[in-house]
Formats: sequence, structure tokens, C-alpha cells
Amino acid sequence: MRPHRPSASQVRPSPQAAPSASRSTSSQRGASPSQRSSPSAQGPAMHEAPSTHAPPSPGPASSPPPSGARRGSITRSAGASPGRAAGRLSGSIHSSTQAPPRQVVPGSASQRGSPPQRRVSTASSRRASPGTKRVRARQPRTTAPSGSSACRSIPTSASSRVPGATPSESGSASSLGTGSSAALGCPSIVAVARTAAISTPGSRSVSTTRSSCVALPPSHPRSSASASPAHRSPALLRPPEPPCMTRIIQHDRSLPGCPLPAPSPAPLPHPLPRPSPVQRHPPAGQPRPASLQPRARRARARRSGMPTRREMWERLGEDVDVLVVGGGITGAGIARDAVRRGLKTALVEMNDLAYGTSSRSSKLVHGGLRYLEHYEFSMVFESVSERRILMDLAPHLVNPLGFLFPVYRGSRQNLFVINVGMWLYDGLSLFRSPKIHKNLKPAEVAELEPALDRSGLKGAPLYYDCSTDDARLTLETALDAAHEGAIVCTGAKVKRFLKDERGRVAGAAVEDTLGGEGTKEIRAKVVINATGPWTDTTRRLSSVPGQEHRDVLRPTKGIHIVVAAEKLPVEHAVVCFHPTDERVLFALPWGDRTYVGTTDTDYAGDPAKVAATAEDVDYLIDAANHYFPKHPLAREDVISTWAGLRPLIAPPEKASMSESDVSREHEILVGRDGLITIAGGKLTTYRRMAAEVVDKAVRLLKLTRMLPADLKPAKTDENPLPGGRGWPEDDDHDAVAGRVRAASQDVLSPEVARHLADNYGMQALEIGAMVAEDPGLGRALVEGRPEIMAQVRWAVERELAATVADVMVRRTQLFYRDLDQGLGCADAVAHEMARLLGWDEKTQRAMVKAYADEVALSRAWREG
Ligand SMILES: Cc1cc2nc3c(=O)[nH]c(=O)nc-3n(C[C@H](O)[C@H](O)[C@H](O)COP(=O)(O)OP(=O)(O)OC[C@H]3O[C@@H](n4cnc5c(N)ncnc54)[C@H](O)[C@@H]3O)c2cc1C
Repeated sequence: MRPHRPSASQVRPSPQAAPSASRSTSSQRGASPSQRSSPSAQGPAMHEAPSTHAPPSPGPASSPPPSGARRGSITRSAGASPGRAAGRLSGSIHSSTQAPPRQVVPGSASQRGSPPQRRVSTASSRRASPGTKRVRARQPRTTAPSGSSACRSIPTSASSRVPGATPSESGSASSLGTGSSAALGCPSIVAVARTAAISTPGSRSVSTTRSSCVALPPSHPRSSASASPAHRSPALLRPPEPPCMTRIIQHDRSLPGCPLPAPSPAPLPHPLPRPSPVQRHPPAGQPRPASLQPRARRARARRSGMPTRREMWERLGEDVDVLVVGGGITGAGIARDAVRRGLKTALVEMNDLAYGTSSRSSKLVHGGLRYLEHYEFSMVFESVSERRILMDLAPHLVNPLGFLFPVYRGSRQNLFVINVGMWLYDGLSLFRSPKIHKNLKPAEVAELEPALDRSGLKGAPLYYDCSTDDARLTLETALDAAHEGAIVCTGAKVKRFLKDERGRVAGAAVEDTLGGEGTKEIRAKVVINATGPWTDTTRRLSSVPGQEHRDVLRPTKGIHIVVAAEKLPVEHAVVCFHPTDERVLFALPWGDRTYVGTTDTDYAGDPAKVAATAEDVDYLIDAANHYFPKHPLAREDVISTWAGLRPLIAPPEKASMSESDVSREHEILVGRDGLITIAGGKLTTYRRMAAEVVDKAVRLLKLTRMLPADLKPAKTDENPLPGGRGWPEDDDHDAVAGRVRAASQDVLSPEVARHLADNYGMQALEIGAMVAEDPGLGRALVEGRPEIMAQVRWAVERELAATVADVMVRRTQLFYRDLDQGLGCADAVAHEMARLLGWDEKTQRAMVKAYADEVALSRAWREG
């Protein structure tokens, strides 16, 4: 008998969805990065008054230009969030300037006037999309004068104990105040930005942001039927701020041993005095590639403009302004933002880029529909705004996807209520969702998703969010930072922090975990801890006796299972509630595979050892079998699993809160030793989080008089990631694939060319050219699959891949998608890497073994 299907209102938030309503949201919600970065870059005082925002024009936006119209204008938009107190909107600012006409590729369809392609988001459309309609060269975004902003300080109303913070990190009412400029002169500030999205009553925010206007037809998934194309980072009107969401700044220069400068801060010496020399520790237990690479490879890499991993390691000795610890999406975003502002930046990652949670998410760039149940309007607003921006920054990686939300008889919420929620969701995106939702009748649902159970089905709203490749998004973000001049070094583990004579963190001792080069010291004016689930471990590295950091995280584990698409055929993401505990789950189409996730359970072990258990897998299989009874799954159908840890901020009342109720919000902590820590948050909002953290770093640098001159706005919302540069504005993946195939001189099949276009964007053209030069690189890694040997070479030469696992898991996804998880081609991959990296036989074998161990860990549940 079918278990009771819960209503939407009964269901707890999804792992990526609603946090508890009392949690804070971003501290500068609504302010565009450029708005935030620009003043910061000029060195603002550490003044925590929120920027003042102008509300958007929330009403019907202007009609989209006619199909095929040229990009006509750059519009500066201002927006207010429909925050909690929806409707408290007060005014708007719009301005526009003429942009140069868009180039049209001669002979392209658009020039010929053929209709643009409609591209949304089903598995089939992504597997075999319709033919090319038109290709347009993406214009570099035209800049306009940055928007004005005004600030109004707000009274800080409450004393709020920061969960997990040491006594010195939690504010008291008397010591709090966002507007006290006197206090701002104290770099011993311990600032806990609970990243409030909201401000006190009466405060108003004005933000203008520049936006490119892309003419797309109403039906286009990257367009919207009724929206002005202008609003990309609208600002928020902030409703009253509950005490627990108050941003806290503590100034306590009187604390014994306060290492920070006196009220009139004297400039710290720079370069900072060197602490005692660091012992060199040869790394143990890791396969060590030979340290020297063949000369030809180095020369090739130099031609490509991407330094090799070894060159990155050699550069690590240089002094920098900002040292970022952690190469997940958060650290990558911070590095990109910082270097684009003109700060000399280094990022160190102990393993591979995206090794942690950032390759183990549900791979969605989404607003989080479920947050609406908890009235987290501003959080949804921020996420959908970022979704829109990411669709422009990485159009090849962030793709619209239809979500079907089946409603069954017995649900407490009826379709009408859910429909209202859908309108709200679309409205919060200012009707710039990939497509506006619609309500489907049971027969229509059956037609779209024949595998879905129909008994008791009342209908299903179909709405739109985006899917992505989380690892590649992280990779491109970090590599873009490297292109801009950041040192991005993988296999570099922070072992301890360097301190100056005042006890301030002044760099780190970093161990080479790949090349066996021992330990190096990096001197940095400011250090940022972005180590996700390792946040507390990293914080402890800076503790001094008697002032140990308390843990701030409550990590929870989420797993996914991957099955063949024919075993669980879905064309859309299907949102469902687990039949036993009512948690939200997704079944997601993924080319020739479908994945189901996710779980949400507390986790206390080593983050590097997180893995699915048999219980986790059965839990997901049960849900899938409940909703897709005609396609029953068994354990044997599971091709692969992945498990990740959410680096969630521990709530004060940990014991009484379930895992799913823990907030997904981020927090920024500034320790008394100056170490900045960011934890929590979502993949979707990484860019905004990064801007907030760099703002914080810039303030610290200013206070310590170490802020470099001539900083500039980062404009991370305007410059596409490498694969997105030149991507056709009509988002025609097939058109790019056609060009990739041509670049390979037709060595590549259309399917392989499409696979490369989807994963590498416009950079796939270079891979195509590589294959034209050496057709042997076009051979498949696994018979019948689209991954090719050229990807291995590209990964090593251009993407800092240094182990077989780097290639299998985070560069090609063979770990997840291949029936034997890439074990069958691991030797061939290792052989090619050995040729490129100069590995000896022993290293090669060790690399293959290390990869096999990783696969074994992901399969350990089979024994349970
Ligand atoms: C199951 C699950 C599903 C999710 N789904 C979504 C989703 O669909 N959409 C969404 O927006 N968000 C989602 N999230 C959230 C999102 O994935 C995370 O918030 C995000 O990836 C965290 O990134 P991070 O950079 O903070 O951490 P990580 O990606 O874990 O990066 C931290 C890095 O620090 C490195 N490191 C640690 N210690 C050191 C050291 N001492 N020296 C050098 N480097 C070090 C680690 O190796 C690691 O690579 C999901 C999370 C989970 C767990």
C-alpha cells in the first residue's frame, strides 16, 4: 500500500533548501558586487552599516525585444528585494546607455533571420538537441559608470550569542554597534557577519548594477516572457531584523593580550618580519610524481598561458596580499574576486580543486523553492539573482532544467497554494526564470514523465531552475583567477599559520602533498579560511593556548546514487517527498544517467573519508521505487555513489534541531588574530559570498594600513568564465559542437564534439584543434563513451590535474558515469599522465592504486 504522500507544508526543507527562518542572510544582499567592491577597493572604513538600496521596479517588466533583435542596451537597474514584508517597495532607479551593436557572425542563422532556438532543459534535449539555428559572437560586456550608492547606518539592536564562537567572538549588547566609527579604528574587531539580508525598519537601500541586455525571444530559456532584461543584481529592501540575525561587531582592545593596534593604528611593518624557519616535512604515504616535467610540456603550458602546477608551487614563496586556504567553490570565488580587484592573491588547496563538497553537491544552481515555506524570500531572491548571473557567466555549464513537482491526492497543500508559491518563485526572479512555470494536468504529466506513478496524481507544476557541473564550475572559477595572475596551487596543505610579533596571522606554512618538496612559507597580509567541512580543523591551526577556537560547524552528510537512464527514465528533475520522513528528494536526468539524492544526516568523522552507507542507498532506492513503481530499482542497479558534507553553521540550539532544519546560510568570522573564516552557504551564491569576504579583507587591510593602492572593482558578475567567452547568445550548444568538430577537422564525432562543447564551452575549440594536430588524442577512454584522451592532456596541461583521480573524478566524471567507474581505463590515463608529467613506473602504479582505493571507498556500502 502506498504510504501517505505528505503535503508541501508538512515537509522539512531540502538539504539545499530552506533554513530555519530565524537565520541570517547575506550581509549585503541586493548590493551588486561591483557596488560593494568598488568602494571597498578604495578602502572604506570598517563600517558595518548596510548599503542603502533602491527598490526595483517589481511590476511588469518591459517586453523582451523581438526575436533575433540585436543587443540594444546596457541597462543599469536598481532593485529592492521583495523581502519578508513583501510589497514594501519604495521607488526605483533605472538608467540605460547605448551599447555597441552586437557582432553577428557572417552567414550565421541570426544574420539570415532564422528563428532562434528554444532551449530548455530536458534530458533528451541535452542528449540530442535540435540542430543549429544561429551562432553569435558574445560581445564583451560594455561597461557603464558604476552605480551610485548611499549608506545609512542602522542601530544594532540585539545581543546575540554567536554559535560556536569563543567568548571573545560573541558580542554583548553594550559592545555592539554598526555605526560606531570610533570602534572601527580598531583592527581587533571580531566581526561576525551573520550576513543579514535585512535591515532595520525604515532603512532603505539603493543599489544600481550594470547589466548587459541580451535580446532573446520570450520562449527562450535564458529569456523570460515578460521581463526587462536589465535586472541582474537588484537590491533589496530589508524588513526588520530579528535579534538573531543582527550583524555583530565586537571591539575589545582592552582584552588582555589583544594583539591589535591601538586606536591610532601605526602601520605594520611590511613586508612582515619572518617568523622562525619551518621544518621541512616530506609528505608520507602519498604517491609522488617526479618533480621535473618534460621541457616540451612546460613550453606548451607556457604557450597556453596557464602555469603548470610545479610553476605554481615555485611561485608560492612570493609574498601576497591575500592567501586563500581551500580550493572549493568558496575559495575559488574569493581568489577570483580578490585578484580581479588588483590584490596579489594565492590560493592553496591540499588536494585537488573541488576535491571537497564542491564536487559532491546535487549540482543545482537554484533558488531553493523550499525556502518559501519558511518565508525566506530574501534568500530565494538572492539565489535566483545569482542563478541569472551564473547563466551568463558560464552558459555552457549552467543550463536551464525543468522541475516537475507532482501533487497527489491526500496532500495537505492543494494545487492552488502550490501555484501561488510558484508565482512567488517566478516573481522573486523578477520573472527572469529560465521559463515561467505552468501547471500540468495528470494527463500532461503522464505524457511528459511516463515513468512517474499516476495513481492519485492531481497535477504537477512545472518550473525552472538550473543544473550544473559543480566541479567544473569550481575549476573554471579558480583557473580564471589564475589567468588573472593569482597563484593557484593544488597539493598544497596549510600545516600551520605564521604569526607576526603582535600575534596576527601573517601567512602560512604549506606542505607539498604532491611533489614531495617539503614545506614552504607564504607571507600574506590577510589570510582567508575557506575550507568548507575542514573549517574547524583549519581554525584550530591558529589557536593559541588558552584561546582555543570553539567549533562552529555542524556538518551533515548528503549522498546521491547514479543509475542508468533507462533504469529510471526521467526527462525533467522530479521533486518528491520521501515516503517515510517527508524530506525533499530529487530524481535528476543526467545524460545517459539519472541520479537521485539526497540524504541529510549528521556526520562527525574525517571529511576525507565520507562515503555512502547501505542504509543511505536503500533510503534513496525506496523513494525512487515509491514514485516510479514501473521501474523498480535494486542495489545492483547503482552504478556509483557520491557523498558530500554540508559545512553548515551549528545553530545555538543544536540538540533540538534536525539536520534538515539547520540553516544553509553562510557566516563570516574574523578572529582576534585576523584570520577570516567563511563557512556555510551554497554553491549557487558563491560569487556573492566571495565578494563579501573580500570586502571584509579589504577593510582589514585598510585598518592595518596595508591596503595596496589602485584597487579596482572586481566585476565578477560581468566577465564570463573562460569557457563562456564567445558562447553564442542563443545558447546553441550544437552550434558550438559543430565548430568543435570543424576544429578537429572532423576527426571527432558529433556526439564527442557535443560532449566537449557542453563541458568546456568555447575552450572545446582548442581541444578540437589539439585532436586535429594529433588524431590519436581523439580515441575514446572507454569504448562507446564520449570521453577522449585529449581531455586527459587538457586536464594536465591546462587544468592543473596532477593525479589519476583528478582526471577521473573532477575533470571527466568517469568515476560517476562509467559502468566500472573508469577502472578499466585508469592504466591508460595514468600512462598518458606519466608521459606528460614524467612519472616513473612506480608512481604510475601508485596513482592507479590510489584511484582504485577511492572507487573502493565509494563502493564500501555494498558490503554493508
Ligand atoms: C549533498 C549536498 C548537496 C548540495 N547541493 C547543492 C546544490 O544543489 N546547490 C547549491 O547551491 N549548493 C549545494 N550544496 C552546498 C554546496 O555544495 C556547498 O556549500 C559548497 O560546495 C561548499 O564549498 P566550499 O568551498 O565551502 O567547501 P569545499 O568544496 O569542501 O572546499 C574546501 C576545500 O578546502 C580544502 N582544504 C581543507 N583543509 C585544507 C588545508 N589545511 N590546506 C589547504 N586546503 C585545505 C579541501 O581539500 C577542500 O577542497 C550541497 C551540499 C551537499 C553536501
